Amino acid sequence: MLQLRPNCECCDRDLPPGSREALICSFECTFCRDCAEQRLRGVCPNCGGELVPRPARAERLLQKYPASTERVHAKTPCPS
Ligand SMILES: [Zn+2]
Ligand SMILES: [Zn+2]
Repeated sequence: MLQLRPNCECCDRDLPPGSREALICSFECTFCRDCAEQRLRGVCPNCGGELVPRPARAERLLQKYPASTERVHAKTPCPS
């Protein structure tokens, strides 16, 4: 199951499970749209993979399959 992480790894902004501002790589590293486009230029800084829009999970499914609550921060500082 896709981990819906609660924050951007760069700027720590909240990214709720229904957000359209969240982008992920194939390892589920999660970034907001601003960081992904302006700071990272569409490339994940952790794995070098492509960042694509994260699909939203339907409200009724979140009760059974809740989003992750563990905040993750990038291991290396994101480019500014
Ligand atoms: Zn961000
Ligand atoms: Zn990644």
